[in-house]
Order: sequence, then structure tokens, then C-alpha cells
Amino acid sequence: MAALPLVRAGARVLMVERGDWVSDPLGATPQATPGMLSRYYTTDAAYHADTDIGHKTSGAFFCVGGPTVFYAGVSLRYREADFVGPAELLADSGARWPYDYNELAPYYADAEAILGVSGESGTDPNEPPRSGPYAMHSPPLTPTAQALHAAAHGLGLHPFRPPLSINRVAGARAACNACRRCDGYACAIGAKGNAATVVQTLVEHGMELRSQTAAVKLQAERGRITAVDCVDMQDGRRYQVHADNVILAAGALATPHLLLASNLIAANPGGRVVGRYLTRHCNAAVLSLFRRPPGGGVVPYKEFAIHDFYFGHPAKPDLERVGIIQQTSLPMAQVLHEIERPLRPIARKLMPHVMGLIVIAEDQPVFENHVALDATRVDTIGMSALNIHHRHTQRDLLCRSLLIKEARRIHRATGSLGSVWRSINTFSHALGTVRMGDDPATSALDTNGRYRGIDNLYVTDGSALPTSAAVNPSLTIAATALRAGSRLAGAAPMSRTGSAEVSHQQQ
Ligand SMILES: Cc1cc2nc3c(=O)[nH]c(=O)nc-3n(C[C@H](O)[C@H](O)[C@H](O)COP(=O)(O)OP(=O)(O)OC[C@H]3O[C@@H](n4cnc5c(N)ncnc54)[C@H](O)[C@@H]3O)c2cc1C
Ligand code: SF4
Repeated sequence: MAALPLVRAGARVLMVERGDWVSDPLGATPQATPGMLSRYYTTDAAYHADTDIGHKTSGAFFCVGGPTVFYAGVSLRYREADFVGPAELLADSGARWPYDYNELAPYYADAEAILGVSGESGTDPNEPPRSGPYAMHSPPLTPTAQALHAAAHGLGLHPFRPPLSINRVAGARAACNACRRCDGYACAIGAKGNAATVVQTLVEHGMELRSQTAAVKLQAERGRITAVDCVDMQDGRRYQVHADNVILAAGALATPHLLLASNLIAANPGGRVVGRYLTRHCNAAVLSLFRRPPGGGVVPYKEFAIHDFYFGHPAKPDLERVGIIQQTSLPMAQVLHEIERPLRPIARKLMPHVMGLIVIAEDQPVFENHVALDATRVDTIGMSALNIHHRHTQRDLLCRSLLIKEARRIHRATGSLGSVWRSINTFSHALGTVRMGDDPATSALDTNGRYRGIDNLYVTDGSALPTSAAVNPSLTIAATALRAGSRLAGAAPMSRTGSAEVSHQQQ
């Protein structure tokens, strides 16, 4: 996204990407491709995670487009109030956005146009102001979602259709065929807008992409990056690339990894925050069993969201932020894979009787939650390996438990026989490790995403976001990256100039 305004402005852009294209991304198969997620989720990076539920090896998605290739496409904006607090949640973290919602709003509009987001404006009970409605509508609710919707409504809640980066109208990009497998799968027909569809467009407009090439070190001299050391992942060849400006967008784990491995901490007056204040949301999946397959067995999908508890919960009036509830599809292949082999046939039979809701609580940015180099281990590309330390606070866990209760209540009202919940312990929503801010002592990036102390280095991924809010993060990452790229290119937001040359319609 940061490259897009630069390519539009005629700059020569080289993108170095560790992974390869997800094979057959626009392929011939009519359905999304099962198992794709696990194929590209690699633990090769040797991220050792020490979390609430013990030690485990965590990984990352290394492919063109990163995890967005497999995401559900939920494309929500942060709320206006997310840019200013609250003190109750941020405590002494020093996390502070350097601009407000109005500054980001035109870039949100650009991101939605580029990705092709469909949705129903005016239905999200705390939706921030928008300059216009979504370009495409959501399709009618499936019977499953209708049942959930009616039950939630009966409980006095305000369910609505979450905006999704799913193309509904056949044109330059295929229209969704409703296979309902976005979450956890690559879209086989290219109807899901994501970072890979953007890269593809940029390559068509002249950007050079070097895939299967990992950046391993940024070389700096006199306050400037002079070279980026790279490794060709296919033959192990090492070489350098040189550029006037370097944009680092490797994700909230790999970006601080590179900064730490490149000894760029001392150069930054806010260097102590690099790798720190890691957030990842406090999430759980609530799974409920129904006597009959809800909705007649139609595969569930993200058609339904509840934002009634975003700004608090009646049981805990002191909390100014709690979180959200969303319908979730169950990536069947993934779930079955995790179940003991002898139990899989039973699980396969029960699966259509199970319905899922996911809860997402905003989590607190805490200094102790961090990534750090492990000098005792070397990863597959010759870098010191990365250790991740993360513990949720009591406040995070309290918010999650309030949301779990509400999700169970909705399922009970829909007729469930009983439910279980499971914490989501991945780093799929990792954020905040190289945060932006006004204060050079408490943030590593300035308002334009420039890394302080290094004139020609920018960070434009999830690590730049000072707070996690309680919505899925990718649209906000996209908007902040578009803003940073536009500033670097000296360009205005596309929605203001009305010249969306590299836009959804033309992709
Ligand atoms: C299954 C799943 C479903 C999700 N669903 C949603 C959703 O519905 N909505 C939502 O908003 N978010 C969703 N997310 C989260 C979303 O995908 C992430 O928040 C987002 O992709 C993070 O963006 P990023 O730019 O920070 O980093 P990434 O998307 O991780 O991009 C980093 C890129 O850098 C590359 N890279 C890493 N290291 C190197 C290196 N050393 N050299 C060169 N290249 C490198 C990677 O291969 C990757 O392409 C989901 C995530 C998962 C896993
Ligand atoms: S965008 Fe449509 S066709 Fe593509 S994976 Fe999602 S539901 Fe299936």
C-alpha cells in the first residue's frame, strides 16, 4: 500500500519479498483451495513465543501479500475515539496517535476503493463518519446468519454486516462465487481484495518485485540507510540493494527483528520502544453445538458482527473499551487437522452442527510484551532468531470473558445445546512494536512513519500502529501505509484528487 502512491507518482520501486506467490492465486479451481493456509504458514523463522498458555513456536506467513491472502477480508475502520485514548486502557504506556481520525479518513476511503470493500454504511452502531457509502452492497444474509441476527436482535443488540474486501460485481476482477471459504484460504478466483492483488496491480504498473528474497540487514551510515542486505531464498546467494528511500513493511514481528538485527536502536531517540508494546488482541472462538445444522448446513461465514460492547459493558462501567463479536467460519481442514486422528470421523460428522463466534477485545500496550534477539540461535536466513514474550493483562482477560459470555448468550438464544470456548493464541493481529507518535522519547516513528534518526527509512506495517483498537487491523494498516507513501511521494489522497488510477475498478 505504501508503494502504491509512489508508483502512481512515477517513482522506481523495487519490492523485496521473502515469500513466493501463493500458487494458483487466480487459479482454475472454482473453490478456495483447502490447506493453503498451513502450506504458507511457516515456523522456519524460529519465532519462539512465551505466552499466557506456555511456550510454543510461532510462525509467520511468508508469501506475496502475506497473511492477507488468507484473511477473512473484514475491513473495519478504527473508531474516532480510538485515536485519542482512553487513559483507563493506555495507562502509563505513552501510546498516542500522532493524528486523529479525520486525518486518516481519506486514506481509509482510498484503501476501501483499492481493495474493493462491500458493506452497508449506517448499520454499524458506532461507525465513524464516512464521506460516502460503500461502493458495493453485501449479499442477502444466509439462513444461519438470519437466525443469529434474529436472536441477537431479540436480546436488544444491534447486529450488522461487517464490511468485507470481497468483490461482488464482475469486472476487471472476478465476482465472489460465495464459496464462503475466505477465512483461512486463498481465494481461487481472485475475488478477495488483499495485499497480493495490490502487488499484482503494482507489478502491472511497473514496480519490480523480487519474490523469494529476504531482507536480512539494513546497513546505515551517517543517519541514512545505504544498502539492504538480501538473501535469495532459492539458492542462498547474498547481495545488496540500494535505494534513495527504504520502506520496511515486514509485519509487527519481522520489522522489529530487522531493526534489532541491524543495530538501528541507538540511532533513534525513541529506540527503547522498538520491539516493545506488542499487542495482538485478546481473542477467543466460541463454538456451540446445535441439534440440527444451523441454517440447513450452509457453510457459515463472516456475515454478522456485534459492536454493542465496543465502548463498554453494563457489568463493568469502569471499562471505556471492551470489544466486538463476529461470526466466524470454521476452516474445516485446519480444525480437523488439530483433532486427534481417531476422533476425526466423529468431528467431521459433528462439524456441520457447530457454529462459531469470534470475540476480539482490545488489549493494552505493555512495555514487557516484546520481541528480542536470541543470540544463542540462528534462523534459516542467518539472522539471530527472535524470541517473543507476551502476557495478557487482567484487564485484557476481563474484557474477553465479558465478550465470551455475550457470545454464548447469542448462541443460546439461537438454540444451541451447549458451547465451549478456546483462546486464539496466534500473532495474526500483531501490532505496535515500532509505534508512531509525536513524542520522540516515547515513539520510534514520526507522524509520517519515518524512523527517527534515519532520514530515509520508513515503517508502514502493523508495527507502526500505537494502539490495537478492537477491530481487525488490516484496513487501518493499509490506510496508514497509504498515508505514509503519499507523504513520501508528495501526493494527495486519491479520493481527494478523484484520480484513482490504480484503483479497484481498473485492477
Ligand atoms: C487467517 C487470518 C485471518 C485474518 N483475517 C483478518 C480479517 O478478516 N481482517 C483483518 O483486518 N485482518 C485479518 N487478519 C490479520 C491481517 O492479515 C494482518 O493484520 C495484516 O496482514 C498485517 O499486515 P502487515 O503489513 O503488518 O504485515 P504482513 O501482512 O505480515 O506482511 C509482511 C510481509 O513481509 C514479508 N516479509 C517478512 N519478513 C521479510 C523479510 N525479512 N524480507 C522480505 N520480506 C519479508 C512477508 O512475507 C509478508 O509478505 C487475519 C490474519 C490471519 C492469519
Ligand atoms: S471471495 Fe468469495 S469466492 Fe473468494 S474465497 Fe471468499 S467467498 Fe470464496
